[in-house]
Amino acid sequence: MVTHALLAAALTLTAAPAAAPAAAAASAPAASAQAPVDCARVKCLALTFDDGPGPQTPALLKTLRKAGAKATFFLVGKKVEQRPRIARQTLAQGHAIGNHTYSHTSLPRLLDEEISQEIRVAQTVIEKATGYRPTMFRPPYGHTDERVLRTADEANLAQVLWSGTTLDWSLQDAAKIKKTVLKLARRDGVILMHDTVPATVKAMPDILMELKKQGYHLVTVPTLLRGKGPKSGVSYP
Ligand SMILES: [Zn+2]
Repeated sequence: MVTHALLAAALTLTAAPAAAPAAAAASAPAASAQAPVDCARVKCLALTFDDGPGPQTPALLKTLRKAGAKATFFLVGKKVEQRPRIARQTLAQGHAIGNHTYSHTSLPRLLDEEISQEIRVAQTVIEKATGYRPTMFRPPYGHTDERVLRTADEANLAQVLWSGTTLDWSLQDAAKIKKTVLKLARRDGVILMHDTVPATVKAMPDILMELKKQGYHLVTVPTLLRGKGPKSGVSYP
């Protein structure tokens, strides 16, 4: 029995988080198990958190778990090297993780080879820490162009941008961040936030409660795409 449970846990870590509900449900705490959500039938919203893992990330994971909400984290390779355990935990809780480059630099100003390096090193670091190789990529600052998209495609990555940005890093105020998220929320939306901003993490219990009250299902980006993506070389949303 013990051996099987461990095997299931190991399989969960190496499989895509959205595609391993059975193993995850068997080995993870009940709160993190989420019945498959069909976003064609219900109102879905994808919350995304960039720039971690950081010191606030464990608190955010706890809040999401309590609310039964799933999210997508775009991880910076350098930060994953500092906190590999948090990256692993994020994935194990059923959230989606993506590549946000190794050093969080603006890509269009770089040479082809340098762009490739930023993306590929982050892939390697994230895979080493979590056992999972991302299929999604978000360019730092949203700075992108044809070259960046092509280079991401060469690394088998889809590009994921957003439909609404909270500018939480400049607001730095829980009440204002909450107000902005609620204003930006719409069906099938992708909201950009940062788990490195303490006020965002502080605002999250209230935000989740209000969004759920409004009937939103909080899902990962792959769930939002309803099995039709993410596809390498495609830019979403
Ligand atoms: Zn960023």
